[in-house]
Amino acid sequence: MTSTDSRTTVAQAAIVAQHLSKVVDDAHSPLTLLDNVNLRVGSATSLAIVGPSGSGKSTLLGLLAGLDLPSSGQVWIDGIDLFALSEDGRAALRAHKFGFVFQNFQLIGHLNALENVTLAMEISGQTGALRADAQIMLERVGLGARLRHLPATLSGGEQQRVALARAFATRPSLLLADEPTGNLDAAGGLRIIDLMFSLQRELGTTLVLVTHDNALASRCDAVVELEAGRLVKPAAATLVIQTSSGVPA
Ligand code: ADP
Ligand code: MG
Repeated sequence: MTSTDSRTTVAQAAIVAQHLSKVVDDAHSPLTLLDNVNLRVGSATSLAIVGPSGSGKSTLLGLLAGLDLPSSGQVWIDGIDLFALSEDGRAALRAHKFGFVFQNFQLIGHLNALENVTLAMEISGQTGALRADAQIMLERVGLGARLRHLPATLSGGEQQRVALARAFATRPSLLLADEPTGNLDAAGGLRIIDLMFSLQRELGTTLVLVTHDNALASRCDAVVELEAGRLVKPAAATLVIQTSSGVPA
């Protein structure tokens, strides 16, 4: 591949990771958490990352968001070289382009549902009728009657729906979700997932979803599997070749 081809590939994808490695010092010996990972996620498509506990899934997500620094390798977000940016530059990029959903919800405990969503919109640089827009998004996830509830007074499923509303209210170009159903029962988890995919399609969001659940992973346009920090070929049953949007995975 020529350097011109390489630039074209980077510009067309929402996320490109090249030769991404992460090595840490563990009791005076190096420990490889990620080993030469290469990824490409097309704009508005969804990618599932599966693999056993400790295989490096969260580490990879943290690098794709620029929350952590790689030992080597590069990440481009919408054609922007993530690690060429300063720490402040990466934080600004995250605020403007990324939404996050975590296993443990990570809502702000002293803010109610509406305030949690509105604050994220302020941080992302949105202006205008934020509270009205936040309310519309909370109604969209079925929480119109819970706007002024604090997180501690909501069920796990309701808290994750606030987190989903918070993430999508900023209209992120990318949503990173790390085991979003990990702390929910089956019914609550399914509701979150259905909402997540319908909002992702409606808003054209690029989704990277970390999950243990192969059935859930198979709902994504493409699936990759991590094993001890290396990308391995996913099991045939979880591999989806053609994306729903017609873009090859
Ligand atoms: P997963 O999300 O797939 O469960 P993680 O990415 O969280 O895996 O972690 C991969 C491995 O790296 C785990 O064994 C974890 O304990 C280890 N690990 C993560 N961060 C560090 C660190 N800063 N120092 C040492 N080990 C780490
Ligand atoms: Mg993890």
